[in-house]
Amino acid sequence: MEIYVLVKQVPDPEAIVKVKSDSELEIENKYFTSFFDEIAIEAGLKLKEKTGGKVTVLTVDNRRVDALRRGISMGADDAVQIADPALEGADQFALARTLSAYLKDKPFDLILTGRQAMDDDAGIVGPAVAECLGIPHIHSIIGLEVDDQKKEAKVLREVENGKESLTCPLPALFTCQKGLNAPRIPLVMNVMKAMKAQIKKLDLASLGLGPSDVSPYIKIEKYVPPPKRPPVKMIKEDFPENVKTLVKLLREEAKVI
Ligand SMILES: Cc1cc2nc3c(=O)[nH]c(=O)nc-3n(C[C@H](O)[C@H](O)[C@H](O)COP(=O)(O)OP(=O)(O)OC[C@H]3O[C@@H](n4cnc5c(N)ncnc54)[C@H](O)[C@@H]3O)c2cc1C
Repeated sequence: MEIYVLVKQVPDPEAIVKVKSDSELEIENKYFTSFFDEIAIEAGLKLKEKTGGKVTVLTVDNRRVDALRRGISMGADDAVQIADPALEGADQFALARTLSAYLKDKPFDLILTGRQAMDDDAGIVGPAVAECLGIPHIHSIIGLEVDDQKKEAKVLREVENGKESLTCPLPALFTCQKGLNAPRIPLVMNVMKAMKAQIKKLDLASLGLGPSDVSPYIKIEKYVPPPKRPPVKMIKEDFPENVKTLVKLLREEAKVI
């Protein structure tokens, strides 16, 4: 099977993120692979181990390839980075047009993505790529079996009080949800090999796209930082006066009761 996994570099949960200006965040330079994308890579690798074939990890990113190297260290065969200055300011739809321009001529059976990216959380890129390619997609799968002969997949989704079982012809795109698998932890040797692995780098022109093809539909108007916490107020009275004062403050100042 020919499997493509779309992966995104996201800030490490411990990275410090500040609002720099109205429309720009300042993010500490600590990145790793989005959690749901590791699940997608694992799902691709498990299928390859069963049916043979190839797993390619693919990212659009002008600066980083950490998720591609993670994919290689886990066992992916190939890695592709798409980067271009015209992608600065890209939204989910610009990314989907870019990714599908790369994928449209490839002989893929399956495209796997995360259900959402851990940072921006839109959950748009996967379904939008499927739309651009005109293939079926199923969101948030927690089970996956493929009949390579029949070119058909059977997937499970979580629904209220149970699971939903669906079948779908291939090629198709599935977004992967927690519970589908437990991503493998790569061996240190494979991590070192992945650091040196060759990564194909493509620009928009090589995909037949120009800047107008990736102009964003959506623009960020502004970021609003959370309000500063008011200073802590110490109540110095003894019981039961302190409880009365606390209730009064919660009611009249904090207005939470
Ligand atoms: C070059 C570049 C420039 C950008 N410039 C800006 C900017 O100026 N302002 C701004 O606000 N945002 C910018 N972004 C961020 C971008 O708009 C969103 O991160 C992106 O659209 C994905 O949305 P999301 O993170 O919500 O993904 P979701 O739709 O939640 O992601 C779902 C899944 O789609 C796949 N996916 C998501 N992103 C990628 C990717 N890059 N490559 C491959 N697969 C992916 C993954 O499998 C992921 O799990 C930029 C992104 C890129 C790559």
